[in-house]
Amino acid sequence: MSAFGACRMLRAVAGRGWRPRSSKPAPSAHAKRPGAGFSFELTDEQKEFQATARKFAVEEVIPVAAQYDKTGEYPLPLIKRAWELGLMNSHIPESCGGLGLGTFESCLITEELAYGCTGVQTAIEGNSLGEMPVIIAGNEQQQKKYLGRMIEEPLMCAYCVTEPGAGSDVAGIKTKAEKKGDEYVINGQKMWITNGGKANWYFLLARTDPDPKAPAGKAFTGFIVEANSPGIQVGRKEMNMGQRCSDTRGIVFEDVRVPKENVLLGEGAGFKIAMGAFDKTRPPVAAGAVGLAKRALDEATKYALERKTFGKPIVEHQAVSFMLAEMAMKVELARMAYQRAAWEVDAGRRNTYYASIAKAFAGDIANQVATDAVQIFGGNGFNTEYPVEKLMRDAKIYQIYEGTAQIQRMIIAREHIGKYKA
Ligand SMILES: Cc1cc2nc3c(=O)[nH]c(=O)nc-3n(C[C@H](O)[C@H](O)[C@H](O)COP(=O)(O)OP(=O)(O)OC[C@H]3O[C@@H](n4cnc5c(N)ncnc54)[C@H](O)[C@@H]3O)c2cc1C
Repeated sequence: MSAFGACRMLRAVAGRGWRPRSSKPAPSAHAKRPGAGFSFELTDEQKEFQATARKFAVEEVIPVAAQYDKTGEYPLPLIKRAWELGLMNSHIPESCGGLGLGTFESCLITEELAYGCTGVQTAIEGNSLGEMPVIIAGNEQQQKKYLGRMIEEPLMCAYCVTEPGAGSDVAGIKTKAEKKGDEYVINGQKMWITNGGKANWYFLLARTDPDPKAPAGKAFTGFIVEANSPGIQVGRKEMNMGQRCSDTRGIVFEDVRVPKENVLLGEGAGFKIAMGAFDKTRPPVAAGAVGLAKRALDEATKYALERKTFGKPIVEHQAVSFMLAEMAMKVELARMAYQRAAWEVDAGRRNTYYASIAKAFAGDIANQVATDAVQIFGGNGFNTEYPVEKLMRDAKIYQIYEGTAQIQRMIIAREHIGKYKA
């Protein structure tokens, strides 16, 4: 199926009275009814997005996930298929040929993809992260050129911010960009870049103000960099604990020339753009963690119903059934957290607080639930023939990337305490 065919297919779903959620919702008749205005019911369109992603995850991803984990091979056939189905790049605006879906819809899709394999989901989410600065800050020309090509072909992109010496402390990055005529010359090194070796272009954050006292809000600039620019050296694929089919690399930029047309918003605006993207990408990361946790809960429950000890299925031992109950509570609450965070940003409101709550909580519970699933599997849980050891390894990264568990708590504390000081 062609890109436009795929887009038409999902647009047919999206067309029935659906409107982008990125704008403020119009007051509806429903909202005027007393006690209404709050609903857990998904729309028919949302259910269809979810069902398409679920079918793909169950029928096409799960059967091959263990093999990709074992080999670490990049799951290109799955990525191409997800692109054909319209499950990638879903938030690219309609003006660039995309579906322009809201964060809420993207999250529903992401949870299902993660249920299948979070290595695949992270590769796909890497695109959203790379694209988001261009979506929130790109001009029309930049958006058409760089987002438009993602709709025409199944291409990847990447978000290049972290460096060997600076991850959480983004303002500590050393990559610099110097203006020379109509170009910028970029020198520096990035690390842990998802899709680093597969990307067609990068969003890159570099320091443009050499004054070490310059505030972060003015010292950095965001660029779009073509991945085939001379001077770019992509490092080896990193062998990670989990999500092994996702492509993570270091990248060196040596005298890489970037035209001034590829600056996002303007010199000095980069830090805000790079951080602002997280308000829209942390809810989907949380949704990914929920997808993993739900998979662990499902696997553990099925196993507990079958495995017998002391003459009865282990699910009939209260210690095991209560463990399942705790796991279920965590999955349900983490899902509500990402949905709230997504709903807030789609309603046009600042959602930093909710996005960090969702990301921190879902990252933590994914680890707890996957660990409990391994426990319920007993010795089998520790073995690669069963699915839960992969889930436990895959879960860890949710407490690290897109802001560690500690950094999320710093944001939540700042936002929370700020309300009391105001
Ligand atoms: C698989 C993978 C994929 C990634 N993908 C990308 C990507 O696509 N693009 C990108 O730019 N980056 C990416 N990253 C980088 C990731 O975002 C960083 O690793 C993360 O932000 C943490 O930074 P760090 O590794 O430098 O750890 P550090 O910042 O050195 O932190 C080390 C520890 O100290 C804690 N810590 C740090 N500062 C504080 C503080 N002030 N208070 C309390 N605790 C603190 C941290 O929470 C952590 O536990 C990826 C990383 C991995 C492993």
